[in-house]
Amino acid sequence: MQASDFDLEGDLTYGAQQGVNVFKNNRMVTFNAGAIGLLRQQLIDSMGTETAREQLLRFGFQSGYADFLQMQASYDWETPGDLLEVGPALHTQEGIVAVEPTEMEYDREAGEFYFNGTWHNSYEAQQHLIHNGESDHPVCWSLMGYGSAWCSGFMGIPVLEMESRCVGMGDDVCEWVIKPLDEWGEEADPYIDALEDFYEEV
Ligand SMILES: [Zn+2]
Repeated sequence: MQASDFDLEGDLTYGAQQGVNVFKNNRMVTFNAGAIGLLRQQLIDSMGTETAREQLLRFGFQSGYADFLQMQASYDWETPGDLLEVGPALHTQEGIVAVEPTEMEYDREAGEFYFNGTWHNSYEAQQHLIHNGESDHPVCWSLMGYGSAWCSGFMGIPVLEMESRCVGMGDDVCEWVIKPLDEWGEEADPYIDALEDFYEEV
């Protein structure tokens, strides 16, 4: 299978009468984005921004890693690159964000990885603006967790995704970079600390 041929809708089993939708071995649910935005706001208000960010990074990482393992096992990918590229395709088809990759270079044996691109229509940035207003820092925390997990799973080494621009900061799009942990500076420390135990599993 090529990444460009992947169609989530075609492989989802809708069980409207039983209340259970299944994608391969995973139960999938659809929530109202506004309700998640409100939950997110309440996490920020009750825990503070730093702890809420940690928890949402972790939520995103778990989601991304589960999706990665499922997709790796469920299809016969034509090339390794198709398994990497289907991550953005799946995240887009899940209605989370439209992912536009720009540069992607990797060498799995050498542990070299660089991937950057743009997000459009991030639901997390949209909800942050509605419930919390414009931020002075990037806010697509669960999305960064998701991409970090997918690419860590693909590479077999921990990598981290961070935004450099974000709609939640008033930018017109979100821009991001994914690279190995030791290539980030101290700005990444809170993100790496939040995901430390997950990274040990990669
Ligand atoms: Zn963003």
